[in-house]
Amino acid sequence: ARRHGRGGFRFFESAMEAQIQARRRLELDLRRALTLREFTLVYQPQVNVATGQITGFESLLRWNSANHGTVSPATFIPLAESSGLITALGAWGLRTACCEAARWPRPLSIAVNVSAMQVVDPGFLATIHGALTESGLAPERLELEITESVLLHDDGAALDVLRAVRDTGVRVSMDDFGTGYSSLSRLHSFPFDKIKIDQSFVRAGPDHPSGRAIVRAIAALGHALGIDTTAEGVETEEQFARVAADGCTEVQGYLISRPRPPEEIGELMQAPAFG
Ligand code: C2E
Ligand code: CA
Ligand code: CA
Ligand code: CA
Repeated sequence: ARRHGRGGFRFFESAMEAQIQARRRLELDLRRALTLREFTLVYQPQVNVATGQITGFESLLRWNSANHGTVSPATFIPLAESSGLITALGAWGLRTACCEAARWPRPLSIAVNVSAMQVVDPGFLATIHGALTESGLAPERLELEITESVLLHDDGAALDVLRAVRDTGVRVSMDDFGTGYSSLSRLHSFPFDKIKIDQSFVRAGPDHPSGRAIVRAIAALGHALGIDTTAEGVETEEQFARVAADGCTEVQGYLISRPRPPEEIGELMQAPAFG
């Protein structure tokens, strides 16, 4: 039994070694991916519940790697964060989203996801300013989506940066609301322009009635604060009707559209009202 146990341990060790190696290769390729132009952006529409009209799009990064195929942002974003690459990658994403949105046939808003590490980077404000200047996009059309983690270890610095961003006319949304810590105090310490309700609450079925109660409570909170609430991950007509009845002002999800490449956005903007 003992020998077997040791062999098992050695096997476990080499499996771990292989995993570390694979991760290292992925990280190396991630570093080269920017120069190799392996990143693209796709855009997912956000629809106003009352009018059924598209109000804007969220940009989402895609990595089409020569060595790894299509890699999910759920995999490469954390890797980009831990390796420090997120600053350069995030800047590329911001610039590209602003430049592509500036060419849309209608001046709808463009929401860009921003990592905590980007916000605390000393060059962040300059990056935003550069993206707006280079693209010619009106600041009012740009929206940053940040998660609570941005403010988690905050000594006030991140808040100061976000206030400065907001002073230029750029809007700031709280993403994945309800999944982090002390969300309510975050709303109290910064004037967010929008709350995005995490899809786990939106898609909770009838056997999870608390999901619906949470959506309702957040929508009521947004209403009281006078800001929009977006229900994320809406996949069915039933969910659309439910979040609309519960007071969400916007929806986003596969029901309306999957994220689409830039060349399809013009056509998507011509679509008749949803809902
Ligand atoms: P997120 O910001 O919460 O984005 C929403 C995710 O849900 C996206 O996944 C989107 O494709 C997916 N989604 C939208 N509608 C539906 C639906 O109806 N059903 C389901 N099942 N999923 C839906 P994606 O594109 O894989 O992105 C995952 C996460 O990666 C994002 O979550 C965001 O945290 C991060 N991410 C993506 N692009 C960027 C970026 O440019 N910068 C940063 N910092 N993070 C990014
Ligand atoms: Ca987001
Ligand atoms: Ca989200
Ligand atoms: Ca998320």
